[in-house]
Amino acid sequence: MTETLSDSVQQASFRSDVTVELVKHSASDTDVLWAARVSTAGEQSLDEIGKDPERSKGLINYLMRDRHGSPFEHNSMTFFISAPIFVFREFMRHRVGWSYNEESGRYRELQPVFYVPGEARKLVQQGRPGKYEFVEGTQAQQELTGRVMEDAYRHAYEAYQEMLAAGVAREVARSVLPVGLFSSMYATCNARSLMHFLGLRTQHEQARVPSFPQREIEMVGELMEAEWAKLMPLTYAAFNTNGRVAP
Ligand SMILES: Cc1cc2nc3c(=O)[nH]c(=O)nc-3n(C[C@H](O)[C@H](O)[C@H](O)COP(=O)(O)OP(=O)(O)OC[C@H]3O[C@@H](n4cnc5c(N)ncnc54)[C@H](O)[C@@H]3O)c2cc1C
Repeated sequence: MTETLSDSVQQASFRSDVTVELVKHSASDTDVLWAARVSTAGEQSLDEIGKDPERSKGLINYLMRDRHGSPFEHNSMTFFISAPIFVFREFMRHRVGWSYNEESGRYRELQPVFYVPGEARKLVQQGRPGKYEFVEGTQAQQELTGRVMEDAYRHAYEAYQEMLAAGVAREVARSVLPVGLFSSMYATCNARSLMHFLGLRTQHEQARVPSFPQREIEMVGELMEAEWAKLMPLTYAAFNTNGRVAP
């Protein structure tokens, strides 16, 4: 049976989560140690690693506290991230120590997967700019948001499909798709650039400089942080102890 336009729009799916997969890494606390110890031990810096765990912990903490940042750059983590386009717009503002490759809307047909906030997502902003907080929405606001978003997404995707069916190029037709559409990308960083990102894009009780990120990019940040914490526990602990300011 041939699929009709409205069939493909029926198949639209709505998500309230984001996903992060650590696909490749070469990152450990020892990478920080050998890079730092070359200052005093030259080419023997590798031999010294692991000899004295307390000294290693102390050295990493000292580097973090005094913001000697470059030893935290000799490592690499590649994440595969699925999130709405509006998250990627914010994400790619992080220029330094990051490499990106995102799926193309020119070379492939974009799939109808769209973001709708989950119940835990606070919907209402109160207060003046620069000093506001988010509070839960009412049941009516939650229902309205879900319904209106889903209608708008279906309508936009139907317009996209109509143009593709008429032979219009993907790169032209995609103009009608909203920023709530899911996209995917590889993002590669090192611990230093990740710490800078986390300092700005997450909220945390140990943060010396509070930030107020949009919740959806924070959800991505939290998942990346959980992966990184397992790879570099000493660096992660020092980051938190020293107020989550990137060195
Ligand atoms: C809560 C929040 C709200 C935001 N709101 C807005 C907004 O309304 N509008 C908007 O446009 N952006 C906004 N941004 C984006 C923000 O301005 C930054 O572009 C983004 O956070 C990336 O930070 P960065 O430049 O420090 O990171 P990176 O680009 O990774 O740079 C890392 C560091 O390198 C140095 N550096 C990089 N490039 C230069 C340069 N050209 N000159 C000098 N030093 C450089 C700086 O020290 C910088 O901190 C917001 C960010 C946050 C966290």
